[in-house]
Amino acid sequence: MGDRAKKPRRGNVAQAKLPSKTCAVCGRPFRWRKKWARDWGNVKFCSDGCRRRGGPAADAGAA
Ligand SMILES: [Zn+2]
Repeated sequence: MGDRAKKPRRGNVAQAKLPSKTCAVCGRPFRWRKKWARDWGNVKFCSDGCRRRGGPAADAGAA
């Protein structure tokens, strides 16, 4: 059997590779999540809570 390439050491190597963004609401950095795999390009908020706050543009007013 041939020798395979060295495997990465244990650790957060996988996480380090993940892309990251800054939340548009709280300004905190957050990393790629699997649930955003399809929509990562449109993700602007770190959580649903921030997403609600941010919403589609500033729409603060009588609804
Ligand atoms: Zn946030």
